[in-house]
This record gives sequence, C-alpha cells and structure tokens, in this order.
Amino acid sequence: MTDTVMYPPQPAPDADTEGFWQATAQGHLAMCRCQDCGLWLMPPLERCRVCAGATAFEEVSGTGTLYSFIVQHHPAISGYTEDLPYAVGLIELDEQQGLRLPTRIVGVDPADIVCDMRLQVVFEKLPGGDYVVPVFKPVVAT
Ligand SMILES: [Zn+2]
Repeated sequence: MTDTVMYPPQPAPDADTEGFWQATAQGHLAMCRCQDCGLWLMPPLERCRVCAGATAFEEVSGTGTLYSFIVQHHPAISGYTEDLPYAVGLIELDEQQGLRLPTRIVGVDPADIVCDMRLQVVFEKLPGGDYVVPVFKPVVAT
C-alpha cells in the first residue's frame, strides 16, 4: 500500500473569480469593485448589483475584523487533516461593512479566537497545486 497524500480541494477560477486568484498568486488580496459607484462586491459579479456598472478587481488593505468563525475538530474535507483543530472565519474587510471573506485563521490557538479580533492577511501556497490562498492571522501590535 502506498501513502496517499490528501490535498485540499483546489480553486476552479471562472470569469468572475480569476482576478482574485491572479492577485493572490502575486501576494496581493484583491476584491471585486464597481468602477462606477465604488461598491465592493463579494461574491464577485460582472456588473454592480446596485448601479449595474462594470467591475474590476482592486487591491485591498488586507486587514479586517473577525465577523464569525467555527473551529473544525474533525476532518471534514481532504487536506488539513494533520492540522486539527483549525479555525475558519468570515473576515469583514476594512474597506466596507459587509465585505466578508471566508478563510482559515492561522497563527493563533483556536481556543483564543474571539469575534471582533483584528486580523491581517498572509498568503500560503495551497498543497496539491499552484494556487496561493489568503489566510488571516492576528494583527501584531506594533
Ligand atoms: Zn455600482
């Protein structure tokens, strides 16, 4: 029997999301934004849901506040099985109220995670492919 390495599911970029993955590949976090009214859109859309303006991906600061989270104690998807328990959260980005990105939370014991904590993006290579994914860690006080 050979060891089977279980990799996490890989992204499947489409016309609406490829800008996001192009940015992460370069170490940037970019979100979809209306080029007319400036509204940030998540999930990304081809046209603004308010004014129907054209959209494009723009870089964001990469800082935000934890809106909600879960701690995963049992293997639920392939990959990350050696990393249990781990936390997955919805990060409300500083750019706009309600602009929330689901990611893993790293660099902190899951028992110490609380809502409203300040987080900042870091990038990790996703095992099993060429993708780079954003994850969030606590903001280090300076
Ligand atoms: Zn708009």
